[in-house]
Formats: sequence, structure tokens, C-alpha cells
Amino acid sequence: MPASTTIPRAELHTHLGGAVDPPILWSIAHRQGIRLPTKDYWEFEAMITMAAHDHNRSLNEMNERFYKWTELIQSSPEAIQESVASVIGGGYRKCNLVLQELRFNPMFRNRSGERDLDHIINAALWGLERAILEYPTVKAGLILMMDRRLTREQNAIIVQKASKYRGKGIIGVDLAGPDRRSFSMAEVAPLFQRAKDAGLGVTVHCGETGDLDEMRYVVREIAPDRIGHGIAAARDRRLMDKLAEAGTTLELCPTSNLKNRMVRDVRELKRIIGGLLAHGVRATINTDGPELYHTNVHKEGEFLIKIGALSRKQIAQCNQWAFDASFIRR
Ligand SMILES: [Zn+2]
Repeated sequence: MPASTTIPRAELHTHLGGAVDPPILWSIAHRQGIRLPTKDYWEFEAMITMAAHDHNRSLNEMNERFYKWTELIQSSPEAIQESVASVIGGGYRKCNLVLQELRFNPMFRNRSGERDLDHIINAALWGLERAILEYPTVKAGLILMMDRRLTREQNAIIVQKASKYRGKGIIGVDLAGPDRRSFSMAEVAPLFQRAKDAGLGVTVHCGETGDLDEMRYVVREIAPDRIGHGIAAARDRRLMDKLAEAGTTLELCPTSNLKNRMVRDVRELKRIIGGLLAHGVRATINTDGPELYHTNVHKEGEFLIKIGALSRKQIAQCNQWAFDASFIRR
């Protein structure tokens, strides 16, 4: 058993599109006869994971370069079942994730309507069940994601599906995707209320790209249980007060923020994370996509200790907050 597997850990923020081991996706792509731009495995691996000194200029670029391929390969019931099972089992083996919440957008897994959403979601749930049968000490749940690039109607369908499968392994809803002028948070706000009424957990990607106004709106009007990233709050004391008071938990993804240039450098990252915790904001440490960024929750913790952002005791506290803020069996 590797040293990284001695502490029981929880991860709340992982995207399925960045979490599957490349050789597994390579096999799935071949089995489905998907025409890839390369016939060489190593070129494929380089296509779907980020090299050590590689950066994206924006979330748009990240989506275009990486998720475009992984989402296409995962767009069938068979593929999504195998993907989900492999991530949950892998998380347990690699860093003792005894609790894992995994998120994906079913609308980006149905080949523009060619595949049936219910089949995709059911297959994902079966993948989850399979993983739990194989690793019975693990608790896991799936979060269905809405997206800024989808229409309000499409996002409403995602919330409706999440409600339908609540209690069967779907534990919450999220909203992600790069900033879009056409997108209105006010338009989707009632959808989050529907999710809450259905007993689902609510998390929202915001305060990642630096849009502080949007994050203030989310905290005030949507009042989610958790926020994906939320690092912009470090610039606003009143917002940090509100998060601390409400007990809203942030899902921090340090390496992802550096790779996507959401923070300038390690110094800025240190200042943000240190500031949030010093202000009483609850934060958890996550990967966003362990395979995409070559990381895991254990490595993220060690990295934060190495750069002096957090102490080992604080990392343990963040891990405890992750267990506390989980949507599983609420
Ligand atoms: Zn994310």
C-alpha cells in the first residue's frame, strides 16, 4: 500500500472529462471505432493530458483542447459506464478516496441528441454501482452539470433528470463552462431552487475566472451549499464574511487554477488560499481532473504544504470539511 493511501480522503470536485486514465479512454475509443487524429498512443496521451510546463490561456482553450476529445469518447452508455467505474476505483487505489463525488454534463455525452440522456445517466449510475461493489468501503455520488454554453431549456432538462435520479446515485447539480455574454445567471437561478426543492445538493462554478459580480450574485440569490473554485472571493472581505457565516464550502482546485492561468503564479495562489482560510472560509482541496493535470488529492495537499500555502494540520482540516460538505446521504 503506497504512503499516499494511509489517510482516508474525500474529493468533491472532479470532472469525468479530466479523470479517466488515458489507456482506458484509448481502448474505449478503439472499441467504439472513433476516428482519432492520431494512431499513436503517446500522441493521444499528450492530446488529452497537460505536460508539466503547459498552460491554457483560458477555460475556452482548455475545453477546446482537451474536453472536446474526452467528452466525445465518453459519449455512449458503454463508455460512460466504464469511465465512471474506473475513476471511482482509481481514486481509492491511488490516494485512498473513500468518498468521491464525480461530475459530468450528460448533454455533452449524447452526441448532440443522438443518444438518449436517460440511457447515458443510467449507464453512469451503473458504473457507480459497479465501482462500489468492487470497492465496498467507498462512498460515491454523481453530480449533473449545467453549462453556460447551453440554453436555459437544456439546463432545465439537466435539473429535471437530476431530480428524477436523486436517491439512485445523483446527489447534486452544478453549473460550469466558460463565461458567455449570452448566459444569464438570473435565468438559471430558479433551476437551482428546483434542485434544492428536490433534495439535491447545489454547487456552482463561479469566482474562478475573476468575475466577482457573478459570484456575489450567486452567493446572494442562489445561496449554494458549495462553490466550485470561488477564489475571486479573496478580493472581497464582505463576501468572505458571508461565505464564512453561511458555511458555504469552497471546492479549491490549485493545480487547475495555475494550469488555466486563473491565478498568476504560486505566490498569488498562496495569498488567495491563505486569505480565505484566515478569514474563516471553509475550503476543500480537489483536482478538477486528476488525469488531465497529472495530480490527485494527496499530491495537491503535498504541493500546498511545499509552497507554504497551508500547514499539514490545515490540509487535514480541509479534508474533514470535504467529508462534512459532501452531498452523499444528506
Ligand atoms: Zn471544475
